[in-house]
Amino acid sequence: MAQRIDGKALAARYKAKAAAEAAALREKGVQPRLAVVLAGENPASKTYVAGKARDCAECGILSDVIELPEQTGEQELLARVAALNANRAVHGVLVQLPLPAHISTSRVIHAIAPEKDVDGFTPVNVGRMVLGEECFLPCTPAGCLAMLQSTGVPLAGKDAVVIGRSNIVGKPMALLLTAQDVTVTLCHSHTEHLREKCAAADILIAAVGRAGFVTADMVKPGAIVIDVGINRGTDGRLCGDVDFAAANERASFITPVPGGVGLMTRAMLMHNTVKAARLQSAAL
Ligand code: NDP
Repeated sequence: MAQRIDGKALAARYKAKAAAEAAALREKGVQPRLAVVLAGENPASKTYVAGKARDCAECGILSDVIELPEQTGEQELLARVAALNANRAVHGVLVQLPLPAHISTSRVIHAIAPEKDVDGFTPVNVGRMVLGEECFLPCTPAGCLAMLQSTGVPLAGKDAVVIGRSNIVGKPMALLLTAQDVTVTLCHSHTEHLREKCAAADILIAAVGRAGFVTADMVKPGAIVIDVGINRGTDGRLCGDVDFAAANERASFITPVPGGVGLMTRAMLMHNTVKAARLQSAAL
């Protein structure tokens, strides 16, 4: 039976640290503040944004949720982002994805000021991450790395397989692991012999978006399994990409869904927002 990596407890620690840093900034007259732009009616996005606002309240971070109708034009959205970039009272700017289909996600993301890009999605932050320079790390892979490190297992020299190569999860995850001296195989829908590759991995990170995708035979005995997926199972319940019960029998450590990576993603956003406030106030 694997040990559970407790996302709830770890996220609580990261949030408590963010709250303490926010309190210290307030003592210096700086109120950390996050602006979240939500365009459209996507119900999952609404839930995520509400969660972010709750986290901010818990951590002593002011949050503004700017809700825009589905038919909002790209120029209008870009103008909103420009106004938030220029507002010195706002330290973090986040545009909730996905955007309505008529809006270019890349144009909007590129418009966010890098120093306020607390999601770590702008080309400047991605470039700095690739170069191993100081930057805002994207919240989900940063959260996964923190979960891996929380096991106390030395990561250097281990073989990892990351399934999924999205810009927000898989690709940055591979980079962060490489920076930890892990040897990474980044897999996707064209990968051949995926099962064999996974079965040889000391660290298996699933970011596919398919319930039950990772089966027991894909888990090396003693592996660490990080489940990024958020899916609805056939029973309607929230589940990850990993067949948890089966993987639990083989892994040494495993993250649950819910109660795993999702909570760490949220905690990392609080960390990044406080960091943005600290850096911007130091630059004054
Ligand atoms: P994307 O849909 O952008 O990427 C999915 C990736 O999985 C793609 O790279 C795709 O390959 C790959 N893939 C699909 N089918 C297969 C297959 N049969 N074999 C191997 N690879 C496959 O998803 P995201 O990265 O945005 O999200 C992944 C999951 O993580 C989702 O469930 C999402 O909800 C969840 N998520 C969870 C977060 C959290 O905080 N817990 C945060 C963000 C996402 P290809 O590139 O070839 O198409």
